[in-house]
Amino acid sequence: MPLIACFGGTFDPVHDGHLEAAKEVLTRARCLEVRLIPCHIPPHRGEPHASPAQRLAMLELAVADSPGLVVDGRELTRAGPSYTVETLRLLRRELGPDVALGWVLGVDAAATLDTWHAWRQLPELAHLLLLERPGAALPASGPVADLLAPGLTDDVADLHRVPAGHTWWVRQAPQAVSATAVRETLAAGRSAAHLLPVPVWAYIKQQGLYGYHDVPGHNAESE
Ligand code: ATP
Repeated sequence: MPLIACFGGTFDPVHDGHLEAAKEVLTRARCLEVRLIPCHIPPHRGEPHASPAQRLAMLELAVADSPGLVVDGRELTRAGPSYTVETLRLLRRELGPDVALGWVLGVDAAATLDTWHAWRQLPELAHLLLLERPGAALPASGPVADLLAPGLTDDVADLHRVPAGHTWWVRQAPQAVSATAVRETLAAGRSAAHLLPVPVWAYIKQQGLYGYHDVPGHNAESE
């Protein structure tokens, strides 16, 4: 059956680590598409970063030249916290039972999966597609290990045999970039061009995001 992978995150901003990972998932897992799904951030946590509209705009720019990568803004218009189980339930309802769903997440996020809302239901709704990330690892035992271990597979064909339930490592080359590093680099007055898709960097400069200042000598190196 066809597989649609969903890649949720804050994307504040989307960076090369996200984009490379999404492309790797698309080809390695033989997906119909990879949907990048920015989450809603409660207003008290949002400042001083980009607005939902800006995070969405950066994602649209990032995927514009990448067939198979699409942006799905559904969580931004849903009031309240963005629960992944809720998003997956809605997608399953829309797509029906004959499409496999994958939820892509970095190993840092997977390590704390047991703090997510209704986390035990996640494997019932989707395959979990894990991205390696420098400096992060899954716990060897405990609730997260217990959740993921039964569905573990190395065979990508398994992801197409059943609609949900497997755990699969993408095994892409790990990328050290993070959105925190992008924001800190910009706030320190340095260029973040080397961490971002070209049109996203142009947008950040144009919008003056994350402390970017368009003055000589500021955020100017390696442009
Ligand atoms: P922040 O630094 O603000 O926490 P982030 O770079 O981790 O942000 P998010 O948008 O929070 O980015 O992450 C969305 C998802 O992408 C998470 O599952 C996260 O683990 C994963 N991810 C982010 N960056 C990478 C990367 N470089 N390699 C693999 N996975 C990544």
